[in-house]
Amino acid sequence: MASSEYSSINTFHKALYAGSISCTEQVRYYLDRIAQSKQLNAFVEVFEEEALEKARELDARIQAGEPLGSLAGVVVGIKDVICYKGHRLSAASHILEGFESLYSATAVERLLAADAIIIGTLNCDEFAMGSTNENSAYGPVLNALDTSRVPGGSSGGSAVAVQADLCLVSLGSDTGGSVRQPADFCGIVGLKPTYGRISRYGLIAYASSFDQIGIFGKNIADVAAVLQVMAGPDEYDSTASQKEVPDYQVALSHNKSWKFAYLRDALYHDGLDPEMKHGYIDFFESLVASGHTVTGTSFEYLDYVVPAYYVLTTAEASSNLSRYDGVKYGHRTSEQNIELTDFYKKSRSEGFGKEVKRRILLGTFVLSAGYYDAYFTKAQQVRRLVTDKLNEILDQYDAILMPTVPSTAFKLGEKTDDPIAMYLADIYTVLANLAGVPAISVPLHRHSNGMPYGVQIITKKFDEANLLRIAQHLMAEEQVATV
Ligand code: GLN
Repeated sequence: MASSEYSSINTFHKALYAGSISCTEQVRYYLDRIAQSKQLNAFVEVFEEEALEKARELDARIQAGEPLGSLAGVVVGIKDVICYKGHRLSAASHILEGFESLYSATAVERLLAADAIIIGTLNCDEFAMGSTNENSAYGPVLNALDTSRVPGGSSGGSAVAVQADLCLVSLGSDTGGSVRQPADFCGIVGLKPTYGRISRYGLIAYASSFDQIGIFGKNIADVAAVLQVMAGPDEYDSTASQKEVPDYQVALSHNKSWKFAYLRDALYHDGLDPEMKHGYIDFFESLVASGHTVTGTSFEYLDYVVPAYYVLTTAEASSNLSRYDGVKYGHRTSEQNIELTDFYKKSRSEGFGKEVKRRILLGTFVLSAGYYDAYFTKAQQVRRLVTDKLNEILDQYDAILMPTVPSTAFKLGEKTDDPIAMYLADIYTVLANLAGVPAISVPLHRHSNGMPYGVQIITKKFDEANLLRIAQHLMAEEQVATV
């Protein structure tokens, strides 16, 4: 796959400040690539004129010798669940047809303040519910490495935009793996920060106690640079942490020997592709050979994480999505002279897609008086057990290493008729969201079917500095080049 000559922020900035490329040329490069890659269906909307205008403005400021922000001219795409003032926002759903954001997400405000250029909005599963991007009102996104396969989801467009070089970095959201899983399927880097590291203000809510904005990039330094800009407290989101944001770039330069753990229950799980299992075993051995320790540890709750995740997230979703009632915004039924309740029912039935309806129903069921304790309370208890156990392991080791997904990218349509099989494939990613810890997927390996698969790294809460440092080190050690 052709790649821009400037495939990292660093190389781009060197060229930009040496005068060998302008922001305008860089934006034109991506606009051309977007035009040539329409069949991938990664973008919902491209802000062509606006991006060029912003680029010209930045070029003029460089000419005038003005200092620019740390993401000057960096071309970014954002998932269609993140507010950008004055721009359309739909969560890839008919129910938000025609809706325009009245304000920008804090993450977006901070990118703009650092002089990044937002080039467009990216396709995804409706309301970020899905693992393949096949639940989008705009149709599926195709994996650029093999267009008969899905890019993963729910942030499929965000992953493909970076994979196919349609922007330099992109934003997604990760509630149960929606950044790490598509990054894994597409052969790029995907980071889900600690819950509360990046403000959720302006991120359309799916399951508020899980949701976190995440970052896609081709290398760790780029992801670190974007995190640096977006992380930190925000008066508009009380769940955004007050903790100080460390210098992630500085952390990248330190190497050492690490104490890694892997979860035996994950590595020897029946669902894991056998070739991938051997790939991980070889990889762990190579880490030991280069001076790290890698210890197998047990995690007996693994089979409970997917059920707990789907009970809790559908419960939260059923409440979060009640605001789409056809009155306040978005789609409204055209049927006249009907009762108010019928009006709500009609508008919602017409506006939401099949998977979103399934989850609203499931979530309403687990919250209903008769079943609340059996499902919702139980799932909360599982969440507590899982979190305590994971933290206990993370207290003893620098990081946990595990697969991101049990297989490589599915074929289009492969799992659409079997939602349970689709949910079960989230087994390795939902863990970090249940516990609120940071996790990253790095593209270290390739399967004999030609598709990439990554290693997921998990560290303690707010330890993104170490997470990125380990990721950087492993990519360098394995001499990984992203697609
Ligand atoms: N595949 C998971 C789900 O459908 C993850 C979604 C996400 O992280 N947004 O819930």
